[in-house]
Amino acid sequence: MIEIQNVSKWYGQFPVLADCTTQVGRGDVMVICGPSGSGKSTLIKTVNGLEPFQQGTIVVDGTPVGAPETDLPKLRARIGMVFQNFELFPHLSVSDNLTLGQCKVLGRTRDEATARGLHYLDRVGLSGQQDKYPHQLSGGQQQRVAIARALAMDPVALLFDEPTSALDPEMVGEVLDVMTGLAQDGMTMMVVTHEMGFARRVANRVLFMDGGRILEDCSKDEFFGTPRSDRARDFLARII
Ligand code: ADP
Ligand code: MG
Repeated sequence: MIEIQNVSKWYGQFPVLADCTTQVGRGDVMVICGPSGSGKSTLIKTVNGLEPFQQGTIVVDGTPVGAPETDLPKLRARIGMVFQNFELFPHLSVSDNLTLGQCKVLGRTRDEATARGLHYLDRVGLSGQQDKYPHQLSGGQQQRVAIARALAMDPVALLFDEPTSALDPEMVGEVLDVMTGLAQDGMTMMVVTHEMGFARRVANRVLFMDGGRILEDCSKDEFFGTPRSDRARDFLARII
């Protein structure tokens, strides 16, 4: 589903991704962890074309990401992204947040887009909230709207960049529950998170990054049982 081959990226002289290679299969839930500044956000943003890279190739469901002929808005619809700070449009209602991309990028009619939007709003446990504005919702609710908005585009995979890091602790669970449901339904997901409980329960793969490199790319059981690198062992010792 997602093929990342020898991807490198520099900011000036500074290597932010160094020869990263991994594959994500259909239905995989890959948790990406590692210290701050290790390149996690940059890696997942390269996957949907939000970050250019200088070397290597990324192919998503048959579409090469960096190629000049690739329609980036269409690609980003097929591989949705959920950010730490929700990134809802503040001046639009929940309903309009849910429909805008569907109408603009996928060419759906307003009725069609609204119906799908409401379907996914219900799916994330927020039916009846469509006329509110983002500031009238809690952080956990806003993040669930952001997930519904991504789902309404019929993505083949979803990318999450620390989706619960900006939330008050009591709201983390409601967002992780929605993500767990998606994983159980077979959604392909790459999730940058420090929530190791989620990783243990839901992930089947773990990627550990440090200094722009992928140091571990293994099953969840291997990662939590017998991490190969000292760095990963140190990281786990500190975080758990
Ligand atoms: P993570 O998500 O693991 O915390 P990032 O992918 O955000 O790491 O960043 C990786 C590295 O790239 C960091 O050292 C960061 O300072 C650097 N970086 C990110 N964006 C830029 C930029 N626009 N210009 C220069 N350096 C950047
Ligand atoms: Mg980050």
